[in-house]
Amino acid sequence: MMPPTATIEDIKAHQERVEKDKITPDNLPPCSRCSVESEFFKIHAYRERRFLIIIEMLIKAAYCSLVRFICPGCGKTFTHYPDFAIPYKHYTQPSITGFSASYVESENMTYQQAVMVDNSAVGYPESDSTDAPTLAPTTIHRWITTLGQFTQTCRTSLTLLVQENPISSICRDLARLNIPHQKYKTDQRRKQLIGCRQMVIIEDFFQTTFQTSIFTKLATRCAFG
Ligand SMILES: [Zn+2]
Repeated sequence: MMPPTATIEDIKAHQERVEKDKITPDNLPPCSRCSVESEFFKIHAYRERRFLIIIEMLIKAAYCSLVRFICPGCGKTFTHYPDFAIPYKHYTQPSITGFSASYVESENMTYQQAVMVDNSAVGYPESDSTDAPTLAPTTIHRWITTLGQFTQTCRTSLTLLVQENPISSICRDLARLNIPHQKYKTDQRRKQLIGCRQMVIIEDFFQTTFQTSIFTKLATRCAFG
């Protein structure tokens, strides 16, 4: 099995769109400070970002530019994220959602096991260097915290899904979710785990229904909240 990851081609394709001036601010939400609509935003800067992708079980750095827009009303700046990126994360969205999903959807997986694909840890080269980057169990723990907080994105997706498919049982299914006791010590963590698991289910259903990911436009429009 291949570990989930954006590919070097995804990253190159984004770089090409940046260079051809194809990145628009349209999907960004209105300015959070002065409410000017994002279509009026202007390009402010290009910033190189390092991403971590997984190639043949090894973690590799790949670089591309992200576009920063500026609100003409108040000067606040906003970063545009391609669909493989999640703000403040170096790993790509498919890795973040994929590894988190396998943890929250399993009954008794540990974080130690969550970094394994086919019994090997992601990041260890088969032979030599032990200082190569590896995917740490605590990283997955943090990803779940992040994904468990996409409340607005989930709520908006759910509204669209129910409009499209009024007889769906998804709301009932989501309300019924449980997390095994051994996976949390605090109620706050339980809520993050449930939030993450709900996001995973919503994303799955969204893909099937609309043939696109919630990360393509919706998460951006919801300011990754
Ligand atoms: Zn503004």
